[in-house]
Amino acid sequence: MASTKKSPEGHCKPTDWRSAGLLWFSRNFFWRKKFGHRIWRVSVDAGLGCPNRDGTLGTGGCVFCNPESFSLGRRSASKSISQQIEEGIRRLKARYGVDRFVAYFQPGSNTYATVEHLRSIYQQAIAHPKVVGLIVGTRPDCVSEECLDLLAELAGRTWVSVEYGLQSIHDRSLKWMHRGHDYETFVETVRRSRGRGFEIGAHVILGLPDESTEDILSTARELARLEINSVKLHNLHAVVNTPLADMVASGEVRLPQFDQYVGYVVDFLEELPVSCVIDRLVGNAPSEYLIGPSWCADKSAVLAAIEAEFRRRGTCQGHAT
Ligand code: SF4
Repeated sequence: MASTKKSPEGHCKPTDWRSAGLLWFSRNFFWRKKFGHRIWRVSVDAGLGCPNRDGTLGTGGCVFCNPESFSLGRRSASKSISQQIEEGIRRLKARYGVDRFVAYFQPGSNTYATVEHLRSIYQQAIAHPKVVGLIVGTRPDCVSEECLDLLAELAGRTWVSVEYGLQSIHDRSLKWMHRGHDYETFVETVRRSRGRGFEIGAHVILGLPDESTEDILSTARELARLEINSVKLHNLHAVVNTPLADMVASGEVRLPQFDQYVGYVVDFLEELPVSCVIDRLVGNAPSEYLIGPSWCADKSAVLAAIEAEFRRRGTCQGHAT
């Protein structure tokens, strides 16, 4: 894959995190180097739908998805983007003492609208003086050329990352999840997104049924080959009112155990290049929605175990590359 024409990385050298004694290239480290501040994500819900739910591709959604379980999204879509940003910033400032933010369009497929509408919502978000960037989460089959042009234009004015939901490179897993797209669609969208000045991110789920360690490593190696800029890892977890919850209840699917997941994450990160930013290493849901595994509610314990496993192996992100 050709390298980017415009780099979204700014002043942060991909290897700085190693000199700082870290074991992986965390998003927080990237932001501190790039902006000179702690940065916090302020989540916004644009109220956009999903072709996997509105009948375009399907009506049931992905097997693991309950849109209500997305944090914040379940209660804020009726407010304007400016209002959500204002309220979110006020809350995060009071709680964490941070003063700069990245607007995160998280719930739903955040490029699934007309370009005029997208321009309006993205602009509302980046217009806030405390907002220094934009993250757009979406499906790889939901981005028109006009939308990519818009994101490129915005990337000329602020830092932008587009996170594509991939989950796995294996089409049998994508089919099992009812994703409604295949791996080739992701590859093609990455190709179309390349060189436009924004970061290209991928969401991946580890612990999918019927995926071996070798399957997981293949996904990591593919993301490395495609020179994906950032990765967000989630453990397979079940929330209420989803097909996955039924499969777990019937015993058809077993969710990954703590130690198993920690091993998967370390295996995965060893295969990623040192330049790949890690957005997240564990997924969770609000307690009223989470069915299991219960261990993912303790994010600090999972991160500590991942660090301990790296130290035990004497490795870090990129070790196998
Ligand atoms: S594509 Fe995203 S929003 Fe749509 S059903 Fe799947 S997880 Fe939910």
